[in-house]
Amino acid sequence: MVIKVGDISIGKDFCVIAGPCAIESKELLIRTAKGIKENISILRGGAFKPRTNRDSFQGLGKEGLNILKEVGEELEVPTITEVMDARDLLSVAESTDILQIGARNMQNFSLLREVGKTKKPVLLKRGFASTIKEWIAAAEYITAEGNNNLFLCERGIRTFETETRFTLDIAGAIIAKRKTRLPVIVDLSHSTGRRELVEPLYRAIKASGLDGVMIEVHCSPEEAKCDKDQALTVEEFNMIFKKDNYIY
Ligand code: PEP
Ligand code: MN
Repeated sequence: MVIKVGDISIGKDFCVIAGPCAIESKELLIRTAKGIKENISILRGGAFKPRTNRDSFQGLGKEGLNILKEVGEELEVPTITEVMDARDLLSVAESTDILQIGARNMQNFSLLREVGKTKKPVLLKRGFASTIKEWIAAAEYITAEGNNNLFLCERGIRTFETETRFTLDIAGAIIAKRKTRLPVIVDLSHSTGRRELVEPLYRAIKASGLDGVMIEVHCSPEEAKCDKDQALTVEEFNMIFKKDNYIY
């Protein structure tokens, strides 16, 4: 299965989705996006942020969507952002190329049905306490409504291990790809929570035959309002691909 987004064929070309955790301002998003543009397929940035604590930064909401749309158009790069609530679906769909369903909403069946009724490409993240079977069953809620423009993202699961934020289940991602025949990518930032693990795991995912990666990058990570410890700087991010050309 190949999903076309602009000039990119997800499932055929190795896909690199990167950008900040959250859209914080147009200036910061542009600065990050310009810095990484040559090495990305798709620009990410959250407007609606699912935060564990209600006093954490929740995202700019509709203002964030407008910023994402403007930056995507100005830089001519496709974008992805999370839709958390079916009531926002229309405005999110108008502002981005790909709808992301986050880990915490993997089993929000009414939301899955609603995105399934659109024709927009959808990225379904695996819930961090969900089995592969449950993840695939969730995907079927979307395809059953007629939307086959679907790809999956492994983003780490909860285990007893505390050295990493979650435990990256590469085997699970490969199984999901074989069972569904959908493209499967891996989120290297949320799965590990540690920026120094992104580069070695990027190489592992490339070697695995999976379809791409998601990486959080910020032009000034120490100032990031969300997930600052896992964000790469623009320079660290670009360095991965310099070495990539050298090795392969
Ligand atoms: C994200 O990608 O912005 C995000 C919140 O990730 P997850 O849903 O995997 O936690
Ligand atoms: Mn994040």
